Order: sequence, then C-alpha cells, then structure tokens
Amino acid sequence: MSEDTVVMKFGGTSVADAQRIKQAARRIVARKEEGRRVVVVLSARGKTTDELIAMAQEVSPAPDPRELDMLLSTGERISCALCAMAIHDLGHQAISLTGSQAGIVTDTSHTKARILDVRADRIEAALGDGAIALVAGFQGVSTARDVTTLGRGGSDTTAVALAAAVGAEVCEIYTDVAGVFNADPRLVPGARKLGVVSFEEMLEMAASGAGVLQLRAVEYARTHGVRIHCRSSFDEAPGTLVISEEETMEHPLITAVTHSTDEARVTLLGVPDEPGVAGRIFTALADANVNVDMIIQNEPVSDDIQAEISFTVPRDDLRVAREALEPIVAQLGMAPIVTDEGMGKVSIIGAGMKSHPGVAAKVFRTLGDEGINIEMIATSPIKISCVVRGDQVPRAVQKLHAAFELGEDAVVAEHPFGASA
Ligand code: ADP
Ligand code: ASP
Ligand code: MG
Repeated sequence: MSEDTVVMKFGGTSVADAQRIKQAARRIVARKEEGRRVVVVLSARGKTTDELIAMAQEVSPAPDPRELDMLLSTGERISCALCAMAIHDLGHQAISLTGSQAGIVTDTSHTKARILDVRADRIEAALGDGAIALVAGFQGVSTARDVTTLGRGGSDTTAVALAAAVGAEVCEIYTDVAGVFNADPRLVPGARKLGVVSFEEMLEMAASGAGVLQLRAVEYARTHGVRIHCRSSFDEAPGTLVISEEETMEHPLITAVTHSTDEARVTLLGVPDEPGVAGRIFTALADANVNVDMIIQNEPVSDDIQAEISFTVPRDDLRVAREALEPIVAQLGMAPIVTDEGMGKVSIIGAGMKSHPGVAAKVFRTLGDEGINIEMIATSPIKISCVVRGDQVPRAVQKLHAAFELGEDAVVAEHPFGASA
C-alpha cells in the first residue's frame, strides 16, 4: 500500500459549471502539491445523466440497455476532459481516462453492472509519470467488451474500487453536503452531521435510501478495507469517516433516519397455495436483475380470501418486473398483476437497537399518531423499515427524527482523527 496515494471523487453538483470545475481542479492540484499521487473520479455535470436518460426516452420508451450505457457514459467523460484542461492551466499534468481505459472490468448487466476487476496499470503509468489521473466515474467495460454503467450514484463505487486497486490511504468523496447526516438535510433542516459511521450502519443507510453514498461503494469499501471520507466540496471542514465497527467508540440507540420515495409495490393475487410457486416468482425476478426489497406473503385463510404475495421494487424496475412475471401469472391462472407506483419507505438505523427493546413500538406509535398508515414492515438487527405512501414520507421522516431526539441535542460520535483526516 502506498501511503501517499489519494482518490478524490467529485459528484455532479461539485462539477456543475466552469467555475466549479476550476474550483475542483484547484483542490486536486493542492493535494498533488502536498506530494501525493492523485487519482480523481468525476461524475457527470449537474443533471446531465437525467437529461441523457430523458433524451433516450424521447426516441424510445424502453431504450436498448447496451445503447443506453453508451449514451450515459458520455456524461462523466465530459467532466474529466474539462477538468484535465483546467488542471493543465494550473501548470500540472493530467490525463483523462474512460472507465474502460482505466481498466474497470465489469459483468455484462447493462445499466447496473458490477465491477469484477480493476486493471490499474494505465493509471499507475500516469501516476508514475507524475500526472494526475482523471477517471470517468460510473462506467466500465464488460467481459463482452461493451461499455457498461454501474447504476445511479455509481461514481462512488468507481472511486472506492480505484482506491482499493492503487492502495490509496483514503477515498475522499466530495459532495454537496458536509458529510453523512442523521437524516437527509434537504428534508430535515435540523439533521446533524455524523463524524463517524460504521460500515454496518452505512450499509443499512445506503440500502434504505441515503443516496449520499452508493450501496455498492460501501460494500466494496468494507470488503477491501477502503477508508471513505465523505465531505463537502465547498469547504475544508472534515466530513464523515466510514470506519469499521471496532473503531467506532459508542453506539447511540438510533444513528439515522433514512427514506426513499421511489418504491413501487407489486401484488400478486390468487397465488396457488403449493410449494415452489414463490421460488418460481422470485427466480424470474432475480433472472431479470430486479432488486426485490420487502416481501409479504399471506396464506389463504378461507375459500374466499386468496393467497397473496406483495413485494416492493425500485420504481425504475417495475416494467421489467412486470414483463418477467406476466408469463408465470398466465401459466398459473393468477389474477392480473396489481401495481402501485406511489410508495415510499422510511427507516431508522442504529447499532444500539440490537440490545434495546421497544424501538419498533415507538416507530409504529409515532407514525400512527400522525395518521400515517404502515403498509409493510421489514427489520434487520439494526434497522426497522416501514413502507408508507410516498407523499407521507417527508412528514414520517421529520416526526421520527424528532421522536428519537436526533436534532440539536443528539449525541453524535466525534471525528476521531481530527481536522486533518
Ligand atoms: P453527488 O452528486 O455528490 O454524488 P448525491 O446527490 O449523489 O451527490 O448525494 C448527496 C445528496 O444525498 C445530498 O444532497 C442529500 O440531499 C442526499 N442525502 C440523502 N440522505 C442523506 C444523508 N443521510 N446524509 C447526507 N446526505 C443525504
Ligand atoms: N452520473 C451518475 C448518476 O447521476 C453517476 C454518479 O453521479 O455517481 O447517477
Ligand atoms: Mg452520488
């Protein structure tokens, strides 16, 4: 491991216009001038990825995934080329690389590919020449030699994977908030920044909607022992360190409230009450690469109450889920598929709840007192998630944040590495 290598990732807002690209370039150069080897990962500027998706949908309602990836991968390339130009003007060498040129090898699942290998020799060569390596985030090349993308927010994963490959001391994720907060600061004005958060809690947070770090980035960091420092691109203050469980000093009962408003529920009615049916249904969804979240199955209690399976999927996966299920539904003579696209989810996360009963009761009471109906529930040892109507999510988050006293007086673990971390 080379102690003097750092990976710096800048998100979309942090490179949104010329001014910000120049600002990022200055920050990158400052790191280089400290004597470090610097690898940079950039996201597409501002809303570019959304605009590219909209552009594709204008010509095709269900764009071919391979071609969609060709299109989407261009956003981050623009950022890298522009930033390289800005760095040149500051008197430093910089080279921009596509994900493929940077040696990011993925599987073949277009639009949500997984990184299989990082062949960092070209980056190492650039660093060896004294250059700053700028890598287009969110993309790679598949084992079938096609361009792939890594799913929304995937530049975080590019950064962590590169940090592991080049043995960086830290993977810095520069974003438009000061770090990881105990609720989305856009929704909860009183949300507090966490100095540290454990991998275990960060995984649950990312999986339940805290989009500040992509879930796969956190998984990859945990597996490969990469230290993540999530911080603001607008100031120098230390942000949030994601560290191992053993390094965290104390566990508040509840660490954070998270949410998502892009859930869809699928309900299958008249499911034959026999072994193997659920296996067929969920295998079809897995084969179609649909990420199923919560699942509820009801047994038929009498002749007129049918067996029913309900589950949630990301709204973007609904069309594919439907296509995967329709043949099975027809074959087994089930009722037509019922879907609801307006669902959301609110979750509370905290390693401290492992040893404290009564947390779930308090969540349900808090939501009940607000007249918010809980439609589905899922738990893990350190998380309780409730599916509610999407339009009720903001109120649910704010009330839970207040009920668990996560505002001003919250006890938040301190940053153990000081301001220089
Ligand atoms: P970037 O473009 O830098 O990758 P993202 O939009 O992906 O930025 O992630 C940062 C955003 O994540 C913030 O602007 C914030 O609204 C949102 N967010 C959601 N939950 C949290 C949280 N718990 N802490 C911090 N930010 C959060
Ligand atoms: N540009 C991609 C997105 O908007 C990837 C990223 O920003 O991490 O999802
Ligand atoms: Mg992001």
